Amino acid sequence: MEVTQFMEKVREYLPAERMSVLEQAYEFALKAHQGQLRQSGEPYLQHPLETASILADLRLDTSSLAAALLHDVPEDCGIPLSEIEARFGAEIAKLVDGVTKLGKISWQAGVSDNKSYTESLRKMLVAMAEDIRVVFIKLADRLHNMRTLGALPISKQHAIARETLELYAPLAHRLGIWELKWQLDDLSFFYLKPAKYRHIEHLVAKRQAEREALIARAIQTLAKELEKAALKAEIAGRPKNIYSIYCKMGKYASQGKDFNDIGDILALRVLVDEVEDCYHALGLIHNLWHPLSAEFNDYIANPKENGYQSLHTTVMSFGTTPLEIQIRTWEMHRAAEYGVATHWYYKEGVKPQDVQFDQKIAWLCQIIEWHKELGQTSEFLRSVKTDIFNDQTFVYTPKGEIKDLPVGSTPLDFAYRIHTDLGHRCIGAKVNGRLVPLTYQLHNGDTVEIISAKRNKGPSRDWLNPYLGYIKTSRAREKIRQWFKKQERPENVARGKEALDRELHRLGLSLSSREEITHMFKYESVDEFYAALGCGEISINQIALKLAVQREKPRSPEGTSTASLSSSGIQVLGVGQLLTRLAYCCHPLPGDQIIGYITRTRGVTVHRRDCPNIVHEDEKERLIPVDWGHVGQLYPVTIRIDAWDRMGLLRDIGTLIAGERMNITTVNSSDHDDHSTSISLTVEVKSITQLSQLLSKLEGINGITSVTRVME
Ligand code: MN
Repeated sequence: MEVTQFMEKVREYLPAERMSVLEQAYEFALKAHQGQLRQSGEPYLQHPLETASILADLRLDTSSLAAALLHDVPEDCGIPLSEIEARFGAEIAKLVDGVTKLGKISWQAGVSDNKSYTESLRKMLVAMAEDIRVVFIKLADRLHNMRTLGALPISKQHAIARETLELYAPLAHRLGIWELKWQLDDLSFFYLKPAKYRHIEHLVAKRQAEREALIARAIQTLAKELEKAALKAEIAGRPKNIYSIYCKMGKYASQGKDFNDIGDILALRVLVDEVEDCYHALGLIHNLWHPLSAEFNDYIANPKENGYQSLHTTVMSFGTTPLEIQIRTWEMHRAAEYGVATHWYYKEGVKPQDVQFDQKIAWLCQIIEWHKELGQTSEFLRSVKTDIFNDQTFVYTPKGEIKDLPVGSTPLDFAYRIHTDLGHRCIGAKVNGRLVPLTYQLHNGDTVEIISAKRNKGPSRDWLNPYLGYIKTSRAREKIRQWFKKQERPENVARGKEALDRELHRLGLSLSSREEITHMFKYESVDEFYAALGCGEISINQIALKLAVQREKPRSPEGTSTASLSSSGIQVLGVGQLLTRLAYCCHPLPGDQIIGYITRTRGVTVHRRDCPNIVHEDEKERLIPVDWGHVGQLYPVTIRIDAWDRMGLLRDIGTLIAGERMNITTVNSSDHDDHSTSISLTVEVKSITQLSQLLSKLEGINGITSVTRVME
């Protein structure tokens, strides 16, 4: 191919001012590859030129074409990438780099070594994620290499053809680039099974004249029909590629048919302007020829996974000859031939970055689907799919930064994602330069600009109402709640007071003054303490704990307390207050020799010193001395339980209390007429904390309506 041919082809669709970079790239490549020859004996430059020409057929943009011209320069001429970047800019340099890296990935190891295959695939996906055009260039590069494969030794031919058939052709298919896919298929097939290839080629050729006559007749008949209906359409015969016939032969053989059945199939394509014209044409065709109902597919209403759209029908033409007809719009046709590449199809006046983002997502989904077909389910892919593409929307800030948000997010979610303060001040939003309601759901690629009030007026209460659809993310919800928490002090104070009263009543405790507990928690004022309790900064069970520590310890001057008691009444020596619990394996009792074992997540477990688990423990450094502390003291406490009477209620209560390693000393119960019962029981507890825990657990028993401590 002459460079003038290539430039002419490009000039057909690119404006003149874009030609100069291609000319420069060509000149640069020419010098770089000077004196190099291909295996075929041709000047090396033919290869990049042909590669770029294949991409020009797909009408790709200038950068792709320039990168194709330069794609072998760093690898084969030792010219550093930095020089390409200096001359042609970062975009083209990145494409060249991507193609070079992709070329280094080894696929051949794949069959025997699954791990390195997955790793190769991962690298490929990453390269693709950066810029899909890298893959287009690689496919074109491969196609030209396949066209010149004859110059290589047979063993290499086979390996490359196999890789092409198993990897690159399916990839082209996945990306919907039929134009490249069928050529890669046929060329691979030619090198892998030359005899079969020639056989089919021969069969097709033999019937060529006959078929062409039939197709011409069919086209004529149909054209007349469409003209009568004033439907503007172009009808064309459809070439069938050798490899697809080979695949069909296999399918037919399994159904007991032979090649003649395939050879007889005629294929037509009808191209129209509008979608409704497709259905109109379909009606006319079915009226003209009898349709084989099993062979009808509406891929317009139900597109194929790779986005392919068309109507497919098979009719009996002229009585006996099946005729396959595809009906589609020109737009569907372009998408079918060039697939994902159409997104880079050069269009006047469209900035590539406007479309690139959505496309990136769309094709990556394609890749992942394709990958799924290959049967790989690596963690990497799963996370890419679920984390990024299923549930996320990607939007831009006015500065062009990308932010990801869950699908269904609104401008408010976006504002809170940027900064809490921006959320609080948000009074409006613009998406892609136009004002939108705050409930607007963001789409991929939207540019979002938040309009904010100068003064911090705070969020609206409506924003928290899930039925109004202002926010989607839990982050925004939490930030808004926090704001109200701060604002609604009086309510929080009231709620906190109520909670404290309830807990004290449950535990049967009274406080000499509320200041006492306020100081225990180191708050300045009682109201401040209430507010903290009311908004959940302090939880209610912290109260029991604090009171317990306060009351169990012999009163000592403040600040001189030694090791503190834990919830199980065991003293861990040399450590502060640690969570302890008695081991289930050896059930130590007061008086047993015990030792603590530091667990990874649940504090210290207390075992008997002679417990086999401890004796055989390897990590001796996890062991820690513990003591029973001041055990002896047990306090009898009377508890009143109100419940709906049922079989086994007392047994459940008894089991629970025994499980807490407590003794029941007395039980009285009185049944009432309404099937309710009141049980009064006395248990021996070590601490109020233990009591508080017991009360909570008892409340969990089925049928129990209330549990309170009874003061004598
Ligand atoms: Mn190459």
